[in-house]
Amino acid sequence: MQTVSLHDIEAARQRIAARTAPTPMVFSSSLSERFGVPVHLKLEQRQTTGSFKLRGASNAVASLNAEDKARGVVTASTGNHGRALAHAARLEGVRAVICMSKLVPANKVEEIRRLGAEIRIVGNSQDEAQVEAERLVADEGLLMVPPFDDPAVIAGQGTLGLEIVEAVPDVATILVQLSGGGLASGVAAAVKGLKPSAKVIGISMERGAAMKASLDAGHPVQVEELPTLADSLGGGIGLDNRLTFAMCRDLLDDVVLLSEAEIAAGIVHAYEREREIVEGAGAVGIAALLAGKVEPAGPTVLILSGRNIDMGLHRSIVCGPAKRERAA
Ligand SMILES: *Cc1c(COP(=O)(O)O)cnc(C)c1O
Repeated sequence: MQTVSLHDIEAARQRIAARTAPTPMVFSSSLSERFGVPVHLKLEQRQTTGSFKLRGASNAVASLNAEDKARGVVTASTGNHGRALAHAARLEGVRAVICMSKLVPANKVEEIRRLGAEIRIVGNSQDEAQVEAERLVADEGLLMVPPFDDPAVIAGQGTLGLEIVEAVPDVATILVQLSGGGLASGVAAAVKGLKPSAKVIGISMERGAAMKASLDAGHPVQVEELPTLADSLGGGIGLDNRLTFAMCRDLLDDVVLLSEAEIAAGIVHAYEREREIVEGAGAVGIAALLAGKVEPAGPTVLILSGRNIDMGLHRSIVCGPAKRERAA
């Protein structure tokens, strides 16, 4: 079985060092006091382009040979990967075409356009956008850089795992966002390679958790894609999944699912107590702790994975009825 090794992740780190921003690890006194264990936040929402996706995209583009760079790259993306790939491609002078579904919020589409990529909006699901991207590979010879199921992308996301273990050497529990599983696979491969005793727990939303449904079924399955506050966690894992299904199955210790109200409470906590603006997906680690769905055993690290939320929506969440869901 093909997989991604600690060695691949260390090589990715060298490759992306000059192409990504260093992001802080900070201690959360509010969460630490509340849960009785040290809780640290990896502020990856401050990454260039607003999410960790730049790590995987940069590693993938930088790994291409000159001939492939001349062909250009294409992807289907719910937003953050497309944005990251547009940025990474522009940095290398490579043409990028981004295919996305109509469910992707307008603010994310605009950002990608501004980054100089060509945009194709097709269909009502990630899977339909994927079909268009595959057509461009076949008809125009572009090179596919998938959002998660790709060894270079997984290795790039895994560099976060290296940084977590370095910054918090006694880490016992890591909560990691789980959608297609590129982040979770990479982080878990790095963490289990360096510190096998640490638990890595995947967090998804209840509305359309494709990886969780697939793990339960024992093979990749399709689930209906539904609107959710954690829109960056939407989309399927691909019925022909090559890498992330097996890696998540073998490396994750558990997966938990969150309601929309719990995710909103995570966004509110991040803003009011940590003074950080995060999107729904970025808040699910905090949300899982607040909801009591993960019992933090020992020093705990949460990843704030992205901040690309519509600011009107953010305002309505931090000012609105969702506040009532926040535990005192
Ligand atoms: C893509 C994304 C995730 C999930 O990553 P996967 O590799 O698809 O599991 C989590 N948070 C944010 C902000 C994202 O953009």
